Amino acid sequence: MRTDYCAHLTAADVGRTVALAGWVNRRRDLGGITFVDLRDRTGLVQLFFPGDAEGLEQAHTLNREDVVRVTGTVTRRGEKNVNPDMATGEIEIQVNGLEILNRSKTPPFLVEGDGSDTTEETRLRFRYVDLRRESMQRNFLLRHRVFKTLRDYYSEEGFLEIETPFLTKSTPEGARDFLVPSRMAAGSFYALPQSPQLFKQLFMVGGIDRYFQLVRCFRDEDLRADRQLEFTQLDLEISFPDDKDDVLQHLEGAIARVFRETLSLELEIPFPRLTHAEAMARYGIDKPDLRYGMEIHDISYLVGDCGFRVFADAVAGGGKVAGILAEGCAGYSRSVLDGLQQTAVAAGAKGLAWLKVEESIVSPIAKFLSEEELSAIVESFGAKPGDLILLLAGHGIQAPLGELRRTVAARENLAEQGWNFLWVTDFPLFELDEAGQLTSSHHPFTSPRAEEIGKLQTDPLSIVSNAYDLVLNGIELGSGSIRIHDRALQEEIFRLLRISLEEAELRFGFFLRALEYGAPPHGGFALGIDRLVMLMAGEQSLRDVIAFPKTTTGFCPLTEAPMPVAKAQLDELGLSTG
Ligand code: ASP
Repeated sequence: MRTDYCAHLTAADVGRTVALAGWVNRRRDLGGITFVDLRDRTGLVQLFFPGDAEGLEQAHTLNREDVVRVTGTVTRRGEKNVNPDMATGEIEIQVNGLEILNRSKTPPFLVEGDGSDTTEETRLRFRYVDLRRESMQRNFLLRHRVFKTLRDYYSEEGFLEIETPFLTKSTPEGARDFLVPSRMAAGSFYALPQSPQLFKQLFMVGGIDRYFQLVRCFRDEDLRADRQLEFTQLDLEISFPDDKDDVLQHLEGAIARVFRETLSLELEIPFPRLTHAEAMARYGIDKPDLRYGMEIHDISYLVGDCGFRVFADAVAGGGKVAGILAEGCAGYSRSVLDGLQQTAVAAGAKGLAWLKVEESIVSPIAKFLSEEELSAIVESFGAKPGDLILLLAGHGIQAPLGELRRTVAARENLAEQGWNFLWVTDFPLFELDEAGQLTSSHHPFTSPRAEEIGKLQTDPLSIVSNAYDLVLNGIELGSGSIRIHDRALQEEIFRLLRISLEEAELRFGFFLRALEYGAPPHGGFALGIDRLVMLMAGEQSLRDVIAFPKTTTGFCPLTEAPMPVAKAQLDELGLSTG
């Protein structure tokens, strides 16, 4: 039907006869002559319809998004008609044949726009029109190339891509399951996988040795801009790793190649590493954005005996006094400082103390401290005139300091564009949930560090695990671990998580059994591909890199799913909606 893509044509094609097919981007009639910008997936080319040309009477009836096929000759535009803003701006097609393949209703929004002339709901309802927009075409080309590069890399490294079931049993990844009722076993349900975790571990028991999959996962969570009910992850697992570095290197290699082949960027590998404890102590968060510094600085040693009771008591009570230096922020108004105080309190701090370094030190707590104490604090932060010191005191001040650091950095626009990858390693094996009960920091299949196993009975919360996260610019991209491959240890972990033997057998019996049949040491990772592509594309929302996404209420404006179903269908499943 066509010989070329529109935007592949250049001045080198002048004189060629071509056939093109695509959508009418826009039509202009100028005194009997018609110009049309024709669009296909590559971009635009200008069509020129001479006024008297035979068979072209219909040219002036063309409307936006009509589908046409044209034949014509590539010609050079007159000098003053050259359009430097258009890739094909030096040429146009002198049309000699026009075929209208299909008409379009007036589109709900402009394809040539940036989407801001409509609502996102409308864009998603008419996603097939939205996908024609240049940024969408670019995003999905990028997405394809990321997938292809990952497949190439892992295939070349000897990994096998094998699918795992969607109709399966619950995998504990910390979210709610999507359930699918079984017709043949009425009253029973499959769960859609939150991840292929257990299956990939079974691949290792099955001797597959190196597995990867670009796989859809399902988690029934409340949605935010950076979550979707279904999402795609690069899932992988290897057997007999020397240590965790074996796994990390296979991520670094793949990501470096993806950036090289899709964005022509050379990333520096290996990525820097921080232990979880270091990340928390220095940045107050387990996914620090290292595009800026502003590290947490502990001044407990300076203020343990100072005249300000709040500080002295905090240190005496086993807590800490620590803060961050907000350079050049001494000009913050009272209301900005109140806002920062609210941020700190919302994150769990008792209050906020601030010191403005000006000609003298301006601070509500200055009157409680001696000149020497004040200058010792200022000096220990390396603060200069114009700087602001934010201080918190007590227990559990790391996370609130982390929040303050992020808030100030956002206000001051400190994060320069860049690709700051970071591994955070040595996560604790357990943490406490809202009810104060022991829960896995990652998932229950993560192994404790060998030298920590002895603490399982005595001090489980202090146990360091073989789990690691990958962070990009302060955003968690994925996580993984070296796994437990011993049934007794796995059972022990279940016991600590208050999963009884009966329940463990019911939920994970198939897996526990596999551990008894020659399970090799193994470990793996899962990387959120949607999020990676979103960041690479410079988009703010996952919905801009997922072809048919759901809204934040889990609704698909295109298909209008989810929907009620007919009673007969429910009856067949033995269900009633009450
Ligand atoms: N199953 C984990 C997840 O989906 C990743 C892993 O441990 O490999 O987050």
